[in-house]
Amino acid sequence: MLRFAPSPTGDMHIGNLRVALFNYIVSKQRNEELIVRIEDTDKERNIDGKDKEILDLLSLFGIEYSQVIYQSENVRFHTAMALQLIHNKKAFSCFCSSDWLDKKRDEAKEEKKAYRYDDACRNLPDELVIDNMNPFTIRIKKPDETIVIKDYIKGDVSFEPKDVDSFIIMRQDKTPTYNFACAVDDMLSDISLVIRGEDHMSNTPKQALIRNSLAYEKEIEYAHLPIILNDSGKKMSKRDDASSVKWLLEEGYLPDAIANYLILIGNKPPKEIFNISEAIDWFDLEKISKSPARFDIDMLKHINREHLKNLDAKELSRYMGFADNEIGELARVYLEEAGTTKELRSKIEPIFADKIIPDEFADSAKIMIETIKNSPYFEEYGDFKNYIMKESGLKGKDFFKPLRFILTGAGHGPDVAEIYKYIKNYIGEIVK
Ligand code: GLU
Repeated sequence: MLRFAPSPTGDMHIGNLRVALFNYIVSKQRNEELIVRIEDTDKERNIDGKDKEILDLLSLFGIEYSQVIYQSENVRFHTAMALQLIHNKKAFSCFCSSDWLDKKRDEAKEEKKAYRYDDACRNLPDELVIDNMNPFTIRIKKPDETIVIKDYIKGDVSFEPKDVDSFIIMRQDKTPTYNFACAVDDMLSDISLVIRGEDHMSNTPKQALIRNSLAYEKEIEYAHLPIILNDSGKKMSKRDDASSVKWLLEEGYLPDAIANYLILIGNKPPKEIFNISEAIDWFDLEKISKSPARFDIDMLKHINREHLKNLDAKELSRYMGFADNEIGELARVYLEEAGTTKELRSKIEPIFADKIIPDEFADSAKIMIETIKNSPYFEEYGDFKNYIMKESGLKGKDFFKPLRFILTGAGHGPDVAEIYKYIKNYIGEIVK
């Protein structure tokens, strides 16, 4: 079983979508189920409705899953497992106050040392624990030996006991900490492989320690994906618009193109343009680059354009707000200069909108509009052009410039003869 475990705390980041895509692809390759676990235990950071938004995005990208689990519904299991750890002396109650711990943390900072818990409460006698009415947290005992994590991308990564530390698994309010909830849930769901962002690497030995301490035998495999960098070589963050999947969709990038791009970066696919089901045939987790991938919006646009070219005319026209082959073909003519559906719409909409004609062509445009309105239907652009030229008496720049503005709503663009092929049946709507 594989899992995608988003936190409902904001717009979906492209890094998360990449994690979801890889999990989906590998689940298909291994013929294992993929579940979605909404990690909603951090009540303060949860945003209402984000869970639904994430699930809708997964469907939009064709990422199928067999189950959705809300982490908050598993709290009773987290509590039971914490009690078991206490019972087996793998965890202990810690009565150190937050003020005290903050003081220790500050001291470590002053000494320029990494803060570690000093295990002050680790060996408290049972009588002292039972009689103590003070609030307490539950800490897991740090490991005795080095923990080695096998990672498909990073190779073997070792963590020393002092770096894993005796960390808190249940807070004073008896809610589980993130690592504890995550480790227990992975066990409950019988997860075999965890694919997630490398920002979670430091959590991995902690989660392994929790499983080991609970005598869980199954070894979970890992793949930690390198981060995605922005133009300036920094981690793509909320400040980068393009980090939000929603933003990319609103900008007119197709789901298939976004998926193609996110699978392509940091990878060596056999071809540049593909869809998810093709990727299932050749994708290899072990071939993902160890170094961060750099986000390049121009490359994404190039891929988007290729996917737009592959749409049939009807589909393309739907993105333009029509359901008509000719509008799809018309949009295709503009693909040279537009790479997203939003850019394409900005070319197609002016064709049907009221025209703004520059003053220098206002007089000729007036004559031309009247002529076109009174002209018969012409199948061929050449015949249409000759007729309008003859009837209007306009020529040269005074003919071609206003004609382009009247028919396309723009001063520049693809060959009018090419455009005419697809708008000839709409001349009445276009020239008003
Ligand atoms: N909830 C974490 C996140 O959204 C993912 C944790 C995991 O995959 O283990 O970054």
